[in-house]
Amino acid sequence: MDYMEALEVYKEMLLLYCEEAKRYINTQCADLEPWQIISLSVLLTLSAIWLKRFLFQKESLTSRIKKQCFRLIRKIPYIRTSIQKQLNKALDDMSMSVCTLKEGMSYTKLLPTQGLTQKQVLDSIRQYQTLNEVQWVKGKCSGAVYWGDEKLTELLVKVYGEFAWSNPLHPDIFPGVRKMEAEVVRMTCSLFSGGPESCGTVTSGGTESILMACKAYRDLAYERGIKDPEIIAPVSAHAAFDKAAHYFGMKLIHVPVDKKTMKVDVKAMKKAISKNTAMLVCSAPQFPHGIIDPIVEVGKLAEKYNIPFHVDACLGGFLIVFMKKAGFKLEPFDFRVKSVTSISADTHKYGYAPKGSSVVLYRDKKYRHYQYFVAPDWQGGIYASPSIAGSRPGGIIAACWATMMHMGENGYVEATRKVVQTARTISAGIRKVKGVFVFGNPEVSVVAIGSDIFDVFRLSNALTAKGWNLNTLQFPSSIHICVTMLHTQPGVAEQFIKDVKEEVAIIMKNPKERTTGMGAIYGMAQSIPDRSMVTEISCGFLDCLYSTDVHKVQKNHHTSKKNHMNGNSEKH
Ligand SMILES: *Cc1c(COP(=O)(O)O)cnc(C)c1O
Repeated sequence: MDYMEALEVYKEMLLLYCEEAKRYINTQCADLEPWQIISLSVLLTLSAIWLKRFLFQKESLTSRIKKQCFRLIRKIPYIRTSIQKQLNKALDDMSMSVCTLKEGMSYTKLLPTQGLTQKQVLDSIRQYQTLNEVQWVKGKCSGAVYWGDEKLTELLVKVYGEFAWSNPLHPDIFPGVRKMEAEVVRMTCSLFSGGPESCGTVTSGGTESILMACKAYRDLAYERGIKDPEIIAPVSAHAAFDKAAHYFGMKLIHVPVDKKTMKVDVKAMKKAISKNTAMLVCSAPQFPHGIIDPIVEVGKLAEKYNIPFHVDACLGGFLIVFMKKAGFKLEPFDFRVKSVTSISADTHKYGYAPKGSSVVLYRDKKYRHYQYFVAPDWQGGIYASPSIAGSRPGGIIAACWATMMHMGENGYVEATRKVVQTARTISAGIRKVKGVFVFGNPEVSVVAIGSDIFDVFRLSNALTAKGWNLNTLQFPSSIHICVTMLHTQPGVAEQFIKDVKEEVAIIMKNPKERTTGMGAIYGMAQSIPDRSMVTEISCGFLDCLYSTDVHKVQKNHHTSKKNHMNGNSEKH
């Protein structure tokens, strides 16, 4: 039988089946009146639509079922009270550790009826400074303050003073700040090999830079006819992408990373691409383990499927652009990779500018337009604003500009050499310690430590006791140090390695011992299957930050005096 004949037979069979189906339906409906048939059809159609909406939502069905189950379990009386007890304890512990005051201190709850003199204000500020306990100046802190050089601070305070009242929302009144912002963007474009069409905006920080890129690509996706735009990002990408997805009604698809290299799994990324994909994300480097994703490879995907591609260089942007000149080799990570359409880089991290500034860059002006917001019909006038904020602090932009100008290429190259060299010293030193390992091959400034033998959070506890303030990471459990200029001071890296070596040696004598304190809390938080509990505790933590309740905080410090509680402002 040849092919045509087979097709003929197939067609005939199909017709037969159709005929049979028609007959079957007709006999079934023989006793029904037309109104019944019509109602049934409408009902079936509506049910089908409902079912589709129920099954396919932004949050997956399994995740929703899981949440519902936990919600039910938590309604069981015994479990409810026991969970509440645990929650309260966790919240109490937190308020004790975060919101402690010194003896005799109280909160100001009302405006002073008579304004303080300048001297009184300055005296009062000194009291607030005494609350600082972590010795970041001596390089005990991971990340947080990237330099804070005293001479630079002097300059920045002067510059801020000059522009304290300026606002780039009014370029006609403050043309100087407009010029400075344009120059910060242009200098940063040049650093990341942007062409003449490259552009960007200054934002309030890395999070806003990321939010803006995601918003731009969401609107671009809408224009391309995508109704439910999706962000595809490595699990290691910054939580700001989760925030963006949440704020802008997008879906975030997390792609796993290779367990050894900690770089994003490009094959899995390819699989995740669909007709809904609005953007791809890589980090250079990512925050948890300081690893640079395979940008060239992911760039090929972006090119093949014509998808916008964002490189998050918030953390290390102002290191990686200087590494070549500082004598360290890197794969291309910027606009040299043809399909990279945007980059975020924080001036307030290794740009050494004061907090509150970052830059988001685009390969082409057409992308930046999707970031903008315009309300053409507002009674207050045609309102056009480039980013989230309306009024913006011109003083911060001026201070950022001043930092970049003062540092210059030579300053940044020198700082980069020191930071990267110190990170490599630390990573080499840690690799020699038996019982722990370093994640992947950190090329920039973050060194993440893990252990196959003991709970690494025990090491975190031990190092905290020695005055170190490191970052704790989860999935998998690890801790990291983000090396800043403060760690390049003589002896700091050596002391860190020595302390890790000593503490690991102690732990290794009893590797299976139980973890206590904060370390145990981090471990527990990872193992709670009901993530809504972790969210609840975290919200409690945030509430804590706004607490002005002395009594609650000092409960265990027998200093709580009743009369300190009720709204009396500080006395002078
Ligand atoms: C710090 C950081 C961000 C976000 O920066 P913020 O300035 O804290 O908003 C984004 N991505 C990475 C990799 C970072 O390390």
